Amino acid sequence: MPSIETLRFLTEDTTRKIAAQFGTPVFVYHAPTIEKIAQNALDFPNAFGLTVRYAMKANPNAAILQIFDKLGLHIDASSGYEAQRAILAGIKPAKIMLTAQEMPTDLVELVKKGVIFNACSLRQLDTFGQNFPGSDICVRLNPGLGSGSTNRTNVGGPAASFGIWHQDLEKVFQIAKKYNLNINKLHTHIGSGSDPAVWQKVAIMCLDFVRKFPNVTTLSLGGGYKVGRMTHEPSTDLKKIGQPVRQALLDFHQETSRKIHLEIEPGTYLLANAGALIATVQDVNDTGQQGYQFLKLDTGMTDLQRPALYGAQHPIIVVPQPQSQSEELKHYIVTGHCCESGDVLTPAPGDPEALMPRLMRSARIGDLVVIEGAGAYCSAMCAKNYNSFPESPEVLLHADNTFALIRRRQTLEQIIQNEQPA
Ligand SMILES: *Cc1c(COP(=O)(O)O)cnc(C)c1O
Repeated sequence: MPSIETLRFLTEDTTRKIAAQFGTPVFVYHAPTIEKIAQNALDFPNAFGLTVRYAMKANPNAAILQIFDKLGLHIDASSGYEAQRAILAGIKPAKIMLTAQEMPTDLVELVKKGVIFNACSLRQLDTFGQNFPGSDICVRLNPGLGSGSTNRTNVGGPAASFGIWHQDLEKVFQIAKKYNLNINKLHTHIGSGSDPAVWQKVAIMCLDFVRKFPNVTTLSLGGGYKVGRMTHEPSTDLKKIGQPVRQALLDFHQETSRKIHLEIEPGTYLLANAGALIATVQDVNDTGQQGYQFLKLDTGMTDLQRPALYGAQHPIIVVPQPQSQSEELKHYIVTGHCCESGDVLTPAPGDPEALMPRLMRSARIGDLVVIEGAGAYCSAMCAKNYNSFPESPEVLLHADNTFALIRRRQTLEQIIQNEQPA
């Protein structure tokens, strides 16, 4: 029998129970998996201390933030709203660093509360300087190198708009001098993948920048640790990629006597495989000899946009109704519920335009399916309310298989609550 994907942390029984209690689609996050992976991140090799920041845009639910907070992780916020949201979830402002593309309108308020600001452009640095002369500040650099797997996920190099271009350091020094700013942290986030040799290069390159900033005591290497969602896709081994980073920090200390504190900011790594989306088969459709067998679900880009955006692959596992335990396998194209041809859950790898039939257990209308790898950038990045589908509920599953609702399903009233008669 060809191998097919299987359930990760759910059982068929728990899947049915959660679906029966909350309806579908419903997201489920597994607390023990989150805790185990967070511990891996906290064990990232370092020489003179480590701070792990959870990149909360991956999944900003307060219950998730609180798990990481309890374990000692700090927070990377991507907008002023995210920073406020973390504070509302009970995170201490001093544990939040704000790395934002858009300058928050409430910057002054946030920084006064204690949020750490990471200047991502010359304009941001200047605005911060005007408001907080004489303060400590972190600066995000684009070191001129990137390695995202697609142009849409590339966050470094000349095609990425993130951070201050590495040839503009003189301008950075000028602004810092003008406002008497103390640049004590440097930040890069270029998504360097899973190859230790690349990480060695990145660490050495970043430390070369640190060399030019005598007051820098902390270097953040950002996130971007790739995680395989499908069984055959490789995942980053943090111990492996961290070893050359640790060595580079030790060598730098040997040479300069400077002890650099390391920060990392994983998002995907911490949550990707700790979450799943449970849905129901709504329809089965066949387009004949030259066509496909389609499974239509009650979910799609309104919960999970990664396949349509990047051609990302997520395991899809059929959980049949208990009385129909067919072991037959079939090739399906799995589609979402939006009236939108791009709403496909089984695109070809890396190519959202192409369809790729997936071998799965044969499914009937009413069967449940579990879409794995849905912990990061799914609920958080959905095409919310498209076709007026409500935002799905989220459930936290504990080690003893008890579970708690951490977000209710949105209602139609909530979808339209801000509309007004003209
Ligand atoms: C999104 C983001 C991260 C996390 O990226 P992942 O690919 O999820 O690990 C880390 N740092 C910054 C600044 C980010 O914008």
